[in-house]
Amino acid sequence: MIIIKTLEEIEIIREGGKHLATVLYKIKEIIKPGISTKDLDIYAEKLIRDLGDTPAFLNYRPEGASRPFPASLCVSVNDEVVHGIPSKKRILKEGDIVSLDLGLKHKGLFTDMAITVPVGKVNMINQKLLEITEQVLQVGIDSASLGNTIGDISNSIESFIHSRKDNKYGIVEVLAGHGVGRAIHEDPFIPNFGKKGTGEKLLPGMVLAIEPMINLGTKNVTIDNDDWTFRTADRKNSAHFEHTILITEGEAEILTTNF
Ligand code: MG
Repeated sequence: MIIIKTLEEIEIIREGGKHLATVLYKIKEIIKPGISTKDLDIYAEKLIRDLGDTPAFLNYRPEGASRPFPASLCVSVNDEVVHGIPSKKRILKEGDIVSLDLGLKHKGLFTDMAITVPVGKVNMINQKLLEITEQVLQVGIDSASLGNTIGDISNSIESFIHSRKDNKYGIVEVLAGHGVGRAIHEDPFIPNFGKKGTGEKLLPGMVLAIEPMINLGTKNVTIDNDDWTFRTADRKNSAHFEHTILITEGEAEILTTNF
């Protein structure tokens, strides 16, 4: 069942979203060759706690997971799609692309956001991948207007990616967007592919995390021995952008923004 948030809850989630965007953009600023992915995680946790909030992913253990996630920030480099575990040994280098996925709990309510960032100068193919993935997130958000359905969001993302002429991008299918707010993952499941007009109708007060994961090659992914890190099956690079949004009477409102 999709939870409709109260006005009071929406106000808190809006505040939390502002915090989250502020934190994530501060992490983005320190990305450079030579920094370890663990350094990014330590900084993320400090920034969140300084705001009086709680990291949502630290020790998060979804149903079926063999062990809880051991960090605040998911850091996924190059062919890692999502849920990369930060490590002192993993040093970013010029030309990498790095996905930062972060959730926080503010006054008891959750928000979720991700960006993918270039490390130093990246090649044209990777630059394009980042642009396309950020663009398709906005396409999905634009389609999340009143009167539309979950399937309309899914379909808009799929159509945009599959109409690209520059490359045959893969859309990750085993992971999806989701409702968010009272928990970090709530109903509904929001795939990044699907048919127009299918699924639940969008209603004002729904809070959703939209999160396309786009690959340079195959849509297929594998999971590492750490039981968390998703990686592309062909080891080509992947990008991920995510916003938490509010369904309104008109266009959707992006909640994970600090503008
Ligand atoms: Mg998410």
